[in-house]
Amino acid sequence: MTQTDTFLERGIGCCETCDKPIFEGEQYCRSSDGCYFCEDHAYSLSDVLIQHKQILAENDEWSLGEMDMTRDELAQQIEAIEKEIATSGDRKILMTA
Ligand SMILES: [Zn+2]
Repeated sequence: MTQTDTFLERGIGCCETCDKPIFEGEQYCRSSDGCYFCEDHAYSLSDVLIQHKQILAENDEWSLGEMDMTRDELAQQIEAIEKEIATSGDRKILMTA
């Protein structure tokens, strides 16, 4: 049962910003590069929008190794996020552990 004990102590991961462990059943945010963030430090839709726009602006030739989407798909995502903020407002992107 040692593995389970360790899992319970550490949770699923720690917040990159404040180092707080995230436990099962809690809300958290996971970035595309695999970092965890607690509820307080989770990204919001507007943060992602800014990030996506920066990526588009900085990559004329589309040389993104880590992104598994095309430039058009990213542009579509930006449009979808802008629409969501316009209709339902900004919100934190959270999932339950
Ligand atoms: Zn945090």
